[in-house]
Amino acid sequence: MSNPLKSQQIDRQMAQQTTATARNLAALAESDPAVYSALLGEEQRERDGIELIPSENYTFPEVLTVLGSVFTNKYSEGYPGRRYYGGQTFTDEIENLARDRAKAVFNCEHANVQPLSGSAMNQAVYLGLLTPGDTIMAMDLSHGGHLTHGAPVSHMGDLFNFVRYVTDPVDGSIDFDRVRADAHRTKPKMMLCGYTSYPRDIDYAAFKAIADEVGAITMTDASHFGGLVAGKAMANPFDFGFDLVTTTTHKSLRGPRGGMILCRKPFAKKIDKSVFPGLQGGPHMNAVAGIAVTLQKAQTAEFQRYAADVLSNAQVLAKEFKQAGVSLVTGGTDNHMLVLNTMASFGIDGRVAEEALDQVQITTNKQIIPDDPNPPLRPSGIRIGTPAATARGMGSQEMVQLADWMLRCLRAPEDSAVLETVRAEVEALCQRFPVPGI
Ligand SMILES: *Cc1c(COP(=O)(O)O)cnc(C)c1O
Repeated sequence: MSNPLKSQQIDRQMAQQTTATARNLAALAESDPAVYSALLGEEQRERDGIELIPSENYTFPEVLTVLGSVFTNKYSEGYPGRRYYGGQTFTDEIENLARDRAKAVFNCEHANVQPLSGSAMNQAVYLGLLTPGDTIMAMDLSHGGHLTHGAPVSHMGDLFNFVRYVTDPVDGSIDFDRVRADAHRTKPKMMLCGYTSYPRDIDYAAFKAIADEVGAITMTDASHFGGLVAGKAMANPFDFGFDLVTTTTHKSLRGPRGGMILCRKPFAKKIDKSVFPGLQGGPHMNAVAGIAVTLQKAQTAEFQRYAADVLSNAQVLAKEFKQAGVSLVTGGTDNHMLVLNTMASFGIDGRVAEEALDQVQITTNKQIIPDDPNPPLRPSGIRIGTPAATARGMGSQEMVQLADWMLRCLRAPEDSAVLETVRAEVEALCQRFPVPGI
């Protein structure tokens, strides 16, 4: 085979390990070397590079174990105690654990842990609580909202009448005067906050007050920062009387890929019916088991420390970049994420920046900035975040180093000597910080 890793690694795996996992892995290596070598390649990529995409993370080793477990074999349409197939003793146990832990972690009255992803979870909320054509207010995509917040290219954008709010052109925060004026003018049935590219916290009290004035249901899509709410490092929208919070489980929460809908009691029945049978069939019980494992961890002091470290690491990066004169969208960060205007700071677009950093194995993503004059595939900035690096145990010292490497690359994106030097230094650092689960 072309991958030189393959035969060595297979030999080592087979010689050293006798567990079922190792046997299964060896079977894969033998029956499907193409997939096995891609798996080894991805492990190496994750080990030897620094992951700065703010929506990515390293899940817990225990989550990897249950994801690859026999729970993947089971059909369990319905909910605990009310299933459409037999043999549900242990799936009921797992789903009840996941739901109870979700309610405890997020301090809410009801939890649905079955959505297959963040997108399905938001669709289930809109379709379950509203009627097509209803008005929903949400953040504009180019100002930090997500595709599922009614972007014109999305199916939900067609089905519902999305009114999009934007950020203030001066300080970059949500312009609440405009949100209020738009809410009174358009009378939305639902008001949605939450973001995928916005480096600030949300003023939930201000948002809820406006929603109450117009009688709108309040929803936060906490997909990016769900883990930081769980770890008590960021505010919990339920403390401000919000009706619903949705979150992916694989971003800052460090769980399996999936979504959760958390809500107040009066919405529980409609939400459950909307997820199943409204939108989905059988839930992925291996992922539900992973959510249960994750939410047990989320209740520990160690996880709270992790969430606090994610934020303090982002603060260190912001300070280093500001000292170097880099233009940051909103001027800094309150959360785990920074958006760098690479066009203004280095005279290069986000794609060139992303590609230069890729060459030194620092993974970021190009990012449109508010009212970006550039096209989406060549936007003006990049977006970075600290959840994954922090999960490896990297702290403020490493963040200072990381900012320095990034500055060197972004100032000389074509200089192969610089890129080679930095790449070697990145690899050396990565060796000292093992990836959880590999
Ligand atoms: C990531 C994200 C989603 C979608 O999650 P998928 O699992 O990728 O479908 C939804 N909303 C927000 C705000 C997100 O950041």
